Amino acid sequence: MGELLEKLTGGLLDFEGRARVWLGAGARLGGVRSAVARSRAVGWLTESGRLESVLVREELVGLVDFALSWRLVLERLVGDEPPAWSPARCRCGERSFRWDVKAGFYVCAACGTHVSEGEASARVEEEAAR
Ligand SMILES: [Zn+2]
Repeated sequence: MGELLEKLTGGLLDFEGRARVWLGAGARLGGVRSAVARSRAVGWLTESGRLESVLVREELVGLVDFALSWRLVLERLVGDEPPAWSPARCRCGERSFRWDVKAGFYVCAACGTHVSEGEASARVEEEAAR
């Protein structure tokens, strides 16, 4: 769990850094423990009107994928069955993987491709790491 939080913090700070560059905001205060850095990043990003300015920036749409992939990771920590939908991108280009309980695979609603839960998670993580 600690390792997971470190990754989450890293991703969040990375995103905040990009948002600060684009918005012309100053660098963040450094040298704080990760829990503090994490809540500051969330606080900064959600300050009045800022998130809206960030989300209109196309390259920063990554925040949405970031949040979705983390939701997936965190849901897996608490539940047995994988989430009904995966944000993983299929090779056909769609993000339409639905969990098929009987098959035990994610099935692409667009082209019928089957991928395992592990494969779907790997694709999400790979995209989030870019
Ligand atoms: Zn597909």
